[in-house]
Amino acid sequence: MSHIRDEVVTTRKPHVCLPCGELIIVGSRVTRRVHTDDDNQIQAFYQHDECKAVTDMWSQDDWECSDAGDLDRPVGKEVTHER
Ligand SMILES: [Zn+2]
Repeated sequence: MSHIRDEVVTTRKPHVCLPCGELIIVGSRVTRRVHTDDDNQIQAFYQHDECKAVTDMWSQDDWECSDAGDLDRPVGKEVTHER
């Protein structure tokens, strides 16, 4: 896939974090990553801040070799955006 941009969003419905496969609850501030798939279709997925911190270090190969939910969600580094 080809990365287009990242957007920080507040979720209005539940999503599943692509790398770790865990639920992202409504009202979470998470990163929405917009990208193109193999057919050049624009797609987007959501990921926790702590998962993004890991996947930011991934290369294109890492993405292609990983399946959704493969990542162990980093514990103890949860980023909260309480208001
Ligand atoms: Zn996650």
